[in-house]
Amino acid sequence: MAKINTHVEESDVLIIGGGMAGTGATFEARHWGRDLKIVCVEKANIDRSGAVAQGLYAINCYMGMQWNENQPEDHVRYARNDLMGMVREDLGYDMARHVDSTVHMFDEWGLPMMKNEKTGRYLREGKWQIMIHGESYKPIVAEAAKKSADKIFNRIMVTHLLMDDEKENRIGGAVGFNMRTGDYHVFKAKTVIVAAGGASHIFKPRAVGEGMGRTWYAPWSNGSAYALPIAVGAKMTQMENRIVLCRFKDGYGPVGAYFLHLKTYTQNANGENYEKKWYDHTKNLVGEYIDHHPTPTCLRNHAFIQEVMAGGGPIQMVTKEAFQDPHLETVGWENFLGMTVGQAVVWASQNIDPKYTNPELTTSEPYVMGSHATCSGAWVSGPEDLSPPEYFWGYNRMLTVEGLFGAGDTVGGSAHKFSSGSFTEGRLAAKAACKYIEDKKAEGIKVSEKQYTDLKEVIYKPLENYTVGRNEITGGTVSPSYISPIQGLQRLQRIMDEYVGGIATNYMTNENMLNRGLELLKWLEEDLENVGAEDYHQLMRAWELKHRTITSQCVTEHTKFREETRWPGYYYRGDHLKLDDENWHCLTVSRRDPKTKEFTMEKVPVYHIVDDKKEKKAS
Ligand SMILES: Cc1cc2nc3c(=O)[nH]c(=O)nc-3n(C[C@H](O)[C@H](O)[C@H](O)COP(=O)(O)OP(=O)(O)OC[C@H]3O[C@@H](n4cnc5c(N)ncnc54)[C@H](O)[C@@H]3O)c2cc1C
Repeated sequence: MAKINTHVEESDVLIIGGGMAGTGATFEARHWGRDLKIVCVEKANIDRSGAVAQGLYAINCYMGMQWNENQPEDHVRYARNDLMGMVREDLGYDMARHVDSTVHMFDEWGLPMMKNEKTGRYLREGKWQIMIHGESYKPIVAEAAKKSADKIFNRIMVTHLLMDDEKENRIGGAVGFNMRTGDYHVFKAKTVIVAAGGASHIFKPRAVGEGMGRTWYAPWSNGSAYALPIAVGAKMTQMENRIVLCRFKDGYGPVGAYFLHLKTYTQNANGENYEKKWYDHTKNLVGEYIDHHPTPTCLRNHAFIQEVMAGGGPIQMVTKEAFQDPHLETVGWENFLGMTVGQAVVWASQNIDPKYTNPELTTSEPYVMGSHATCSGAWVSGPEDLSPPEYFWGYNRMLTVEGLFGAGDTVGGSAHKFSSGSFTEGRLAAKAACKYIEDKKAEGIKVSEKQYTDLKEVIYKPLENYTVGRNEITGGTVSPSYISPIQGLQRLQRIMDEYVGGIATNYMTNENMLNRGLELLKWLEEDLENVGAEDYHQLMRAWELKHRTITSQCVTEHTKFREETRWPGYYYRGDHLKLDDENWHCLTVSRRDPKTKEFTMEKVPVYHIVDDKKEKKAS
């Protein structure tokens, strides 16, 4: 193998991932740490990276406190309701009370915001969403980060966290490699903020083969946000709470603006309102949760899935009425231009003009993330003034590893943060990380050369596997001694799909299937020691796969632990089909022992710190 150069960089605050949360963290770290060295490391290029790469058409989390449109308590009630009771209300409240200031900065930085002509306020798409011309959203927040950081490293995939050799369970930095040059990068740091987004492509996608990249969630989000902390023994929460999205079929174009702004609605193939049909059935499973307003996202999915299984498909969005209005027609198309151009292309290729044809909807394969209508992620400390003792251990958004912080999709328990809330959470994490340094908690950290040179060998091994193994190939591309990243990925996706509640089983699983899934994942993990990479790009694919596999193990362990169906429409435990508040009105928390690689699970109380007076629909 060619000689690999090693670069060592020291910093005070190291941010992994320059998406929404990472740019927020980088920006805010400069505010609180004027003299600190701030470094951000990004797998792609922060100008166009993460889930917001292509842009957005709405900022989905804005309170409007200055006009008393909403208060943080209202948002906590909303998120709690949507997640069937299971959220960390301290984290949600903390994000909500700061999110407006973030959005006001976006406005100052030049993000084109739509305004309500009559009131002069931001134009609302829905109760929480405001509309933007957001194609340039990501470059705008990236600029703020670039002006704040000492250094931004693009094209570096972080593969492992470094630990302090002196003090147990304290962070020491991270390592990774440059996908273009192949160089090895060692980042020693006093604090690390993981902001590496969520996980797509762990479950088999509906679009396979040449269409595999066409998923709802960004295909490059590979679960590093979970795998990095899990590998060093940080606790995770609610990892079973994967999300399934109802979106336009094949292009996964967004439906929010259609429902909220265009007032379109759904129907089955016979033109019926199928959601009503499934009311009694759903009530039998989840009780009074079906009467909550708004109807939780998973329960709307549930009606969709049941209707399709009962033969009522395809489900359509009724666009023909709204699109007769030229203004709404324009909004409908522009909605895709700012964030999902591919949907317009799909419709063109399938001869669908929504003015004359009601387009089909579908439910997606499941994804793991912590910032959307779901809250999988790391178990973090909350803020001092809000969190009950079990949720607080010194520094806001610090994981159970000292000096390791998280934000955005990384952080579990706090759903409905979206782009603005993730940026805000990055700011909160950075503020706490600076305080951690100021409090002298990061003194005397030692990372030995041995630690990072040992890791170097591990990281580049797939190149070695390939270089040696390819000599055994006598024909074709299949080697007896290594597997390629795509072969490994397809195997992972089938395991998750068939055993852990993917589309193959209509999101159904049970304890026996989960046990079998865990067994197969273990064997996959063993085989991944023999993954082969022919170049640095494939090396990235190999490490993405390894991160996806650890994330999948954690998801499967959590799904097995929670013996109820809390979120029908996201997944079903066939052996425990009903929601069980008596035994499972709690958060699930896991820890993987870094030495034995075994997971241990526990239940942690869910504290409702905001009253529920507005949660139920007035009768
Ligand atoms: C399809 C879709 C539509 C959405 N629509 C909206 C919307 O309309 N309005 C709204 O407000 N929000 C929306 N959201 C939510 C919003 O995009 C997310 O909440 C937000 O991007 C999460 O921020 P994050 O920083 O955690 O992740 P991201 O923004 O995804 O950033 C993660 C970053 O980490 C990098 N990274 C990953 N792994 C590594 C690694 N190993 N090493 C180095 N870097 C790494 C990635 O390249 C990426 O830049 C949408 C999300 C999706 C997926």
